[in-house]
Amino acid sequence: MQKSLSCEILAVGTELLLGQIANTDAQMLSQGLSELGISVFHHTVVGDNPQRLREAVELAKSRADIIITTGGLGPTADDLTKETIASAFGKKLELHGPSLKRLYDRWTFGKMTKNNERQAWLPEGCEVLVNDWGTAPGCAFEAEGVHVVMLPGPPRECTAMWKHRARPYLEKLTGGAIVSHYIRLYGIGESAMEDKIAYIMDNAINPSAAPYAKEGECLVRVTAKGENHDVAEEMTKPLMEQICSELKDFVYGIDAESLEEVLVALLKEKNLTISTAESCTGGYISKRLTDIPGCSDVFMGGMVTYSNESKMKLLGVKEETLKAHGAVSEETAYEMAKNVAEIMGTDIGVGITGIAGPGGGTEEKPVGLIYAGISYKGETKVYELPRRKNQSRERVRLLASSKVLDLVRRTVLGIE
Ligand code: ATP
Repeated sequence: MQKSLSCEILAVGTELLLGQIANTDAQMLSQGLSELGISVFHHTVVGDNPQRLREAVELAKSRADIIITTGGLGPTADDLTKETIASAFGKKLELHGPSLKRLYDRWTFGKMTKNNERQAWLPEGCEVLVNDWGTAPGCAFEAEGVHVVMLPGPPRECTAMWKHRARPYLEKLTGGAIVSHYIRLYGIGESAMEDKIAYIMDNAINPSAAPYAKEGECLVRVTAKGENHDVAEEMTKPLMEQICSELKDFVYGIDAESLEEVLVALLKEKNLTISTAESCTGGYISKRLTDIPGCSDVFMGGMVTYSNESKMKLLGVKEETLKAHGAVSEETAYEMAKNVAEIMGTDIGVGITGIAGPGGGTEEKPVGLIYAGISYKGETKVYELPRRKNQSRERVRLLASSKVLDLVRRTVLGIE
């Protein structure tokens, strides 16, 4: 069997060592490299110091087939990555005309100062990785049997440069193309999911399937390597179908970013509108819906009715209901959902009320007790959400908002 390539990620920046920022570039790159089947054995962080950077490069060179650097490509004196790495490989820097022209063309901060030209000096003979998301170009070259790829530090630039420049460069080295898809799941825990699909995953080599857990959700990544993109894409299909049919309604999206993204798309497709009345989640559900561009087609508005008075005044929850059952009750959630849909004139109304903690719980109504009402086309149902014990207030609210988004999705799709 062919040995897999190994990579070392070398992050350059004193802020990383001081703990001022987290090394999220390395995390993103490691995920991407694992999708390519490239093993990452070391993450190294080094400050803006040429001598220590040189030592780190020498060490990386001795133990990795690929070195990816992040940061230090900018115009200031502490941006030393290119000089130091080029010299470690016996290369000079040379002025790259098209990059210089690009810098001048794209300059938007007044007159460009001379030191900015440093960004257009690149290791001789390198492949220039054009940066459409910032000013400093990246570059890649092979020397002494090692491939070196240099990427800018700012995460937005680094992510785009990885996806559109470095990844295609490395795909050529690994031969063929790699395609990955993500099956997103809600309502099933990671171990239950693994248990259900273990027999599929164990036998899946290419395409392969790998499970992950993520903030109250989980996902399965299906990856195939084929001689070209289309072949790899086709290879993923049977495995995706097999996993989806095993996990059925827990699957809420393929390659989707979030529950809210899927829900907004579903409501658009079905031509449905939604409004929210929130108490314990304090607007979190509205926030998540409005995070999605274009949600104005479906989301008509939300109310944060935290006090009993606002529940009565703004939503018309009955005083008797609050007196007899309390604000955290099935009856109040029912009225919140029903009334908000009527007031806003929407197909769907969501009402949520509960005790997010850490205080405020009683024996009868403990912390984590949350009721959600979903009114759909005039019919209202109330659900008691799964109780989250020993969770922070933030997490209780996040998980409750996810549960409600999924309940709405299931209601619209007619899934029990
Ligand atoms: P610039 O052209 O902006 O100077 P650069 O490639 O020289 O980019 P740095 O100057 O090293 O990069 O870092 C710019 C900013 O990018 C840092 O202040 C930091 O906010 C962020 N950054 C750098 N490295 C990382 C990293 N490994 N992970 C996350 N963020 C990073």
